[in-house]
Amino acid sequence: MPQIVIDRDQCKGCELCVHACPQKILGMAKEINAKGYFFARVEEQKRCIGCRLCCITCPDLAIEMHVHGTMVHYFAY
Ligand code: SF4
Ligand code: SF4
Repeated sequence: MPQIVIDRDQCKGCELCVHACPQKILGMAKEINAKGYFFARVEEQKRCIGCRLCCITCPDLAIEMHVHGTMVHYFAY
């Protein structure tokens, strides 16, 4: 099962990933991160289909997908 990991302090709260997720399993926290933004979080991990749209959409590369314990890379800067 894919595991989505969001770096809360890397997130700027733009909500692009929330709207990109076809399963609608991402949402915004009610707390703020170190930068003062409401950050994205995974609300129903078990419904994730591993489509990667959230990872690709995030402009700040704050989202990683792990499959069977291995991190899947999408961008190499
Ligand atoms: S991989 Fe796809 S289904 Fe899973 S959280 Fe990201 S956008 Fe949603
Ligand atoms: S797309 Fe990235 S920066 Fe924007 S809310 Fe999602 S995790 Fe945060």
